Amino acid sequence: MLTGLKSLVRKATSIFASPKAQTYPIIIPRSDHSLSRQNLSPNAVKVLYRLNKAGFDAYLVGGCIRDHLIGVDAKDFDVVTNATPEEIHDLFSNSRLIGRRFRLVHVTFGREIIEVSTFRAPSAQEDSASKPQESLKGKDSARSAHGIVLRDNVYGSIEEDAERRDFTFNALYYNVQDFSIHDYCGGLEDIANKKIRIIGDARQRYQEDPVRMLRAIRFAGKLGFDIDEETAAPIKEMAHLLDHIPPARLFEEVLKLLGSGNGIKTFHLLRQYGLFKYLFPDTEALLVSGWKRDDLNPEAFILQGLENTDKRLQTGKTTAPYFLYAVMLWPSVVLRHEEFQSQGMPATPALHQAASMVLDNQVASTAIPRRFSTPMREIWDMQFRLPKRYGKRAFVLLDHPRFRAAFDFLLIRELSGTELGGLGAWWESFQFANENEQRELIKSIDLRANDKEGPKKRRPRRRKKSNAPQRETPEE
Ligand code: ATP
Ligand code: MG
Repeated sequence: MLTGLKSLVRKATSIFASPKAQTYPIIIPRSDHSLSRQNLSPNAVKVLYRLNKAGFDAYLVGGCIRDHLIGVDAKDFDVVTNATPEEIHDLFSNSRLIGRRFRLVHVTFGREIIEVSTFRAPSAQEDSASKPQESLKGKDSARSAHGIVLRDNVYGSIEEDAERRDFTFNALYYNVQDFSIHDYCGGLEDIANKKIRIIGDARQRYQEDPVRMLRAIRFAGKLGFDIDEETAAPIKEMAHLLDHIPPARLFEEVLKLLGSGNGIKTFHLLRQYGLFKYLFPDTEALLVSGWKRDDLNPEAFILQGLENTDKRLQTGKTTAPYFLYAVMLWPSVVLRHEEFQSQGMPATPALHQAASMVLDNQVASTAIPRRFSTPMREIWDMQFRLPKRYGKRAFVLLDHPRFRAAFDFLLIRELSGTELGGLGAWWESFQFANENEQRELIKSIDLRANDKEGPKKRRPRRRKKSNAPQRETPEE
């Protein structure tokens, strides 16, 4: 695919071959690229035509064009236009206005959402940070004390829109009227060279929006591209700016970073660029400290969890976001659990306390909605319940809605070197056995030499001796 792209780039540059320096946009006609209407979402095409019909310019932009040229299936389709959000909203009854920081319109077709935004002009420069900007169609922009763009609603032309996008390969526009691709920042050449290059001055662009550093890493992990030297250079030093990003936004970014099917590579890159500690501070501190136990090697465990998730995603299976979060935080839970127990707390309350503490610390960095934290707690809790299989317990556990996730989690622990006496294999057999076999499996636990979990022996009741004086029992 990329070989084809190289010739496309040669063609593109030859179209503009002139004694002058490269002129943008480079326009690639339909005959010279492989993107056809068949590759596009019919709903996105409908949106483009409707906008065109109403007299507006409209293009497909961003990931869908980039991914198609690279040979990856596009995940979603983003449309950009010179219509304002209100004008877009008026055109589509199936739409809603969303966002404050970045106002745009969602047009919904059943489960598919086409995101439609208005051409943006680059946001205010630092020296005019607090002054509202005058612009083509009004609206405003604002920055925080750290120079982070809080609102970015200054509308502009397509050229300006291209300039304020993050990376060159994300500033490619597809025009459905003549099926041409418009390249404003050299994105085609960068795709051909497998380069991630930020548009404009890297420091300034990260200052405006530190999440762009995470996006650079995400694309490096997902596409296997190299980050251009100037784009990469300021990341380590500016990573701390992530502290000023709302935890809810970072939560979404983490899901995309680690849930793209390239989690291992992305994890290494995040650590290499000093970004990981702003996403998972406790986990990073624990990894750096080198803390280990005979039954837990934190890094091996996390890598095993990511490998499992990557494999699932690469084979078209789904993964639950809470599972990944449960993996990333498990070493911290184990460490805190040990600490609370060493202070004399019994095992179960110590586990609950440890889970609460780890989750409380984590939400300061990345939010974790309750619909995720509850199943995370259940997965952790079940790691201590899965060894206790006697009597009816195994059947009760098997019926637990979180059984499958907890079992997968247990296998990851074993694969990463935790010795659990064949517990994973036992549960594997138990799940698929018939009732008789299941009973045999439960009996087999009892027969094990050092089994501490067998039935509790009942203490014989003390008979009341009617004539003897009764001993007083202390109140419990
Ligand atoms: P994918 O959808 O595969 O995750 P994408 O590049 O489409 O990748 P989106 O978050 O859907 O990512 O954004 C769509 C487009 O909006 C991007 O291609 C880019 O042009 C622009 N964009 C997104 N986030 C930023 C940002 N933080 N700064 C500048 N431009 C951005
Ligand atoms: Mg996208």
